Amino acid sequence: MSIEQRILDHVESERDEIISFMQRLIQTRSVTGEEAEIGALMEKECTRDGLEVDLVEPQPGRVSVVAKHTGTGDGPRMMMYSHYDVVPAGDPDTWKHPAFGGEIHDGYIWGRGAQDDKVATCCLTMAYRAIKELGIRLKGDMVFTHVGDEERGGRYGFQEVLNRDYGDGVDYLFYAHGGDPDNIGVAANGSRGAAITVNANQDEFVIGYSCTSSCWKGSSVESIKNISMCIVRQLGCLPDTRYKKNLMWLYSKIN
Ligand SMILES: [Zn+2]
Repeated sequence: MSIEQRILDHVESERDEIISFMQRLIQTRSVTGEEAEIGALMEKECTRDGLEVDLVEPQPGRVSVVAKHTGTGDGPRMMMYSHYDVVPAGDPDTWKHPAFGGEIHDGYIWGRGAQDDKVATCCLTMAYRAIKELGIRLKGDMVFTHVGDEERGGRYGFQEVLNRDYGDGVDYLFYAHGGDPDNIGVAANGSRGAAITVNANQDEFVIGYSCTSSCWKGSSVESIKNISMCIVRQLGCLPDTRYKKNLMWLYSKIN
């Protein structure tokens, strides 16, 4: 039997465990800024799989998990990314099923983060577990990064992971994210926000920008161009700041 088929069969045989882990992820507190509890859960799960685990905690309660596998040699070094923080659930009355219940109805798991992005945290964890349990030896190193703070820009999450050099020597980054199962993007998405204060005579205006790119079905380049054109039209009246230089650089790259 091929390795691929063995993995697929093994995953199928672990169906119940995978579903209950996904439910546990949804039930575990992890609104952005409160990532300690889910960090502890992932630390435990990754340790169970024999990975070498580090916690990255730039501020109390702002936890990301880095879990490393050392390969047998001669393979690429891969970084596998997921984010486990979620946006707040808002008014509970607007939810058909409890936001943090992880309940199953009509064949779907319901809850905040079910798609964005705890499905990826679950998949990466369970994919590695399947490979491990089958005794498959990987040549390359793997660096799993399960991060917080993604929903507020990533400064206390993935940025901090990179600041601590965990990205050194990585050949490929796999950005795991919920979405359309029939499409795999060729690049990760990302965002940049800028708040620019402009003094014009006596009046003061604050202009906020947020540009997000998503390499999804090829639509992203056009949307970046449109957003960047809006920004560039405003640039002439801005003071010479770092943001202005960054935006001009971005524009030069895509236009
Ligand atoms: Zn997300």
